[in-house]
Amino acid sequence: MSAKKVLVAFCHELGCNVTIDDARRAYFALEQKDRKRFRFSCSDRHCNVTMSGVNYHVKAEDGDKFKAAHFRSPHPHTPGCEWNQFTSDIEQDIQPGETKDDFIERKARQKLRDDINYFDASLDNDTSTGMTSPRPVSTPVTKTESDESNKKKENTRWSKYTKTTVLQRLIDFWQEAKNTLSHKEFMNLRIYIKNRGSVYLNKYITHINNGLTNKYEGVIYGGGHLVRRYGRGFLFSYFDKHEEKEVYLYVDKEIMASGNGMSNYLHEILETENVRYFRVFLLNPSWSRRINKKGGHVINLHIKKVQQLVIFYELNSSKVHESTANEKDGDNPA
Ligand SMILES: [Zn+2]
Repeated sequence: MSAKKVLVAFCHELGCNVTIDDARRAYFALEQKDRKRFRFSCSDRHCNVTMSGVNYHVKAEDGDKFKAAHFRSPHPHTPGCEWNQFTSDIEQDIQPGETKDDFIERKARQKLRDDINYFDASLDNDTSTGMTSPRPVSTPVTKTESDESNKKKENTRWSKYTKTTVLQRLIDFWQEAKNTLSHKEFMNLRIYIKNRGSVYLNKYITHINNGLTNKYEGVIYGGGHLVRRYGRGFLFSYFDKHEEKEVYLYVDKEIMASGNGMSNYLHEILETENVRYFRVFLLNPSWSRRINKKGGHVINLHIKKVQQLVIFYELNSSKVHESTANEKDGDNPA
């Protein structure tokens, strides 16, 4: 048994355990001239094997070009490593008390780089996943306990890694699931939303065509183009109309500046040249009607925090962009 999926690794430069999404945010928070690939090792301090981070240092493209950022293990982890345990737990056969649907969903999740089963949309926290605490130590599960108690313990054990408050991580997970899983597997994927319960992921993240609000106070998304920048702020126009009215998103530069590393990342995406379209995801935005200068009725979407915003882009050229052409899966840190 070897670790196939590692959700968290120790970052030497940052001095703490991070998800790959944390690493991306920290990387993009640096001035461009100071950016250097991070060094990672296993988050289990008894293992400590050298790892590499993949795709976290490039801007994620939309659609087929999307490549999930992830950790890669070029070397085997020690047998008792928590990620070997994790892999063995997620790859188990159907368990007593597990429904067939649960089992099928667990099998589908194995195909993905990340594994998220809990999303906290309150945005009360900052953008961190709470991984900055000292490195966790593995606690072996004793075999004398009942299956039920073991199951609960495992859920608690991995939940610190499979739980997130970060919208970008959730949308990356959705994007990869959409690209990788069969339609049926994708439609059956569920997520537990804090204070709301279990929801199908495809019902929590819905296209703007289906309405300006998501019934779970979840995410709406759609493609469109950038109208203009206002410093770090921007005005965006969606391709899709709502009740025949044009739909805009205006994000103030103050809001953009509030998001630590995330705002740099989003800013650089918006600065990308030769973009065919942007796809913009918003967590539970509010909206209002307004009359524009030409006397037409339009709709404005509003967000209060940059943490409610995720943007992907697609380039005009059908060729692979230079910055990603040089990218090899799992290249070593510079
Ligand atoms: Zn390890």
